[in-house]
Amino acid sequence: MGHHEFEHNPERGLFVSMPQEMSRFLKSRISVICALVFLLFLFIFAACSSSTEPVVLPEDLTFQYTPTSGLVTLFHGDSTDFSVATNPSVTFAKQWNLNANVVGTEPAYHFEAVHIGIDTLRLESTYSGVHWNRTWYVNIVENSTTTPPEVASVSLDHGNEAGDVEVSWHMIPQSTYPIEEYQVAMSYDGAITSANWTEATLLGSYPHLYNQVGYSVVYSEAEDGMLPGEVAWFAVRALDEVGQMSALSSSYNHLISSPWFIEGYVFDDNGEALSNVIISYGCPSCRVNSDSEGRYVIGPLPNVNTYDLTSLTSNSSCDGEPCDSFYDFIAHDVTYDPEGNYDIMLLGRYGLDDSCENYDLNFMTYFREMTRTVFPTSLRPTYELFKWESYPVKVYVPPFTSVNGLDYESLCKEVVGFWNVAMGEEYLQLVDSPEEAMIELYFGDEGTLYAGRTFLAQPNDEDFRLGDVIPEKVLVYVWDQLPNATNVQETTMHELGHSLGLFAHTVCSGDGFIMSANHAGILANGPENAVHPDEKRAVRAIRNLPQGTDISAFDWE
Ligand SMILES: [Zn+2]
Repeated sequence: MGHHEFEHNPERGLFVSMPQEMSRFLKSRISVICALVFLLFLFIFAACSSSTEPVVLPEDLTFQYTPTSGLVTLFHGDSTDFSVATNPSVTFAKQWNLNANVVGTEPAYHFEAVHIGIDTLRLESTYSGVHWNRTWYVNIVENSTTTPPEVASVSLDHGNEAGDVEVSWHMIPQSTYPIEEYQVAMSYDGAITSANWTEATLLGSYPHLYNQVGYSVVYSEAEDGMLPGEVAWFAVRALDEVGQMSALSSSYNHLISSPWFIEGYVFDDNGEALSNVIISYGCPSCRVNSDSEGRYVIGPLPNVNTYDLTSLTSNSSCDGEPCDSFYDFIAHDVTYDPEGNYDIMLLGRYGLDDSCENYDLNFMTYFREMTRTVFPTSLRPTYELFKWESYPVKVYVPPFTSVNGLDYESLCKEVVGFWNVAMGEEYLQLVDSPEEAMIELYFGDEGTLYAGRTFLAQPNDEDFRLGDVIPEKVLVYVWDQLPNATNVQETTMHELGHSLGLFAHTVCSGDGFIMSANHAGILANGPENAVHPDEKRAVRAIRNLPQGTDISAFDWE
């Protein structure tokens, strides 16, 4: 019965007698079951977890940052780690921002100091929807072992315009990191050092160019704020591609030039203004013209430069007056002088008397011979022409009557008037006392070969001779044994010609030259004809030339 019951137990029979169907059922459902079991386990695990760790609220978190200081200084090329942790330890999101860029989400960030300057590193932490921010400022400083070497051959010069400063330097040929640019800075407060570099005024940055050895920049008053007349310091540094500045041990001070106007008058040897005379001061386009009053103005120029001033007139020769052709004048190396006189007297190309072949019929040749400005003297190493400081020149004639009964005083005083008649202008003026005289006559018998002689009395510290120096007093000796009045007057007339600056004797072969060694008969045709026109022009030119004019500056040819 039992067996029967067993065999007919529909339930048991079902399980026992249908194993294959069961197996099929299991196989078809196994993956689903497994998934369910897995989810169950996950659920249990999660339930267990939540039940074994305490819940941390955001407000219970404390953060530990490394480094602790918010300001970190690193040498260029170094690196360091930045990191964050919480207490209690929780899992939270991190985002590292370097300047404007996201650079990491790990608990730590490895920072490389690649650029001189300050980097901003910001960490944003997020837990349970709450955000925390932390910022480090990383100051990357130069590493002395890799900074570029000092910029070499820094030099300063004046530019073409007043206030201009030209700064030049040489490239840095070798450096650890490639050079990116050069920086020029200026300070009015003293020397520029690497320590006070940032306080100096940065005038400009200039890219380092491949194969460019020399650099040069001009800074101006208008564009760059150069202050004329001020002393400024300048320095040049190089910046490499990692932001390191070159070493700096020296800056250079420099007086910034001030504007200078070269101004004066152009006139002829008669003292007449010359208009429309071109005055060149160097470069081809550097020219001005004298105006209707003969005035010319050049500038503003830097007061530190020197210029050659050249008149550009017609060079064709002409004879006699009027003459609009001149020996051009070149004033070399004209420098700034607040008291300077930049007047230019042009000497006419008059030509000479036909008998003056000895001077090549060239008035300038004659003029220089007569004024002894052909060669320097031992006491006047230049070609400067020195003349009386003022005209008319004061002459004293002492009372004297010779053994021959000649009234030297009256005769000589008359000669003073002859000169003024000859020149058509007062060149000599009689005075009553030797003290106020510039030319003092005296009469005697010195036993010389000459009937008269003229010599410099003051200044005489160095045994100056006529022409060596600006005369203060000249003595004129006239022999007291002259036989007649004409001899006295012609001798005196001749000696006063020496006193007026014609130091030499004329070597023209013709007549009519008071400065000939043999001038007998010169007064025969009246005093107005006693001085040759060539001599008159020379005496007049001496008077009208600016004191100390370099006669060699005239274009002689
Ligand atoms: Zn003489």
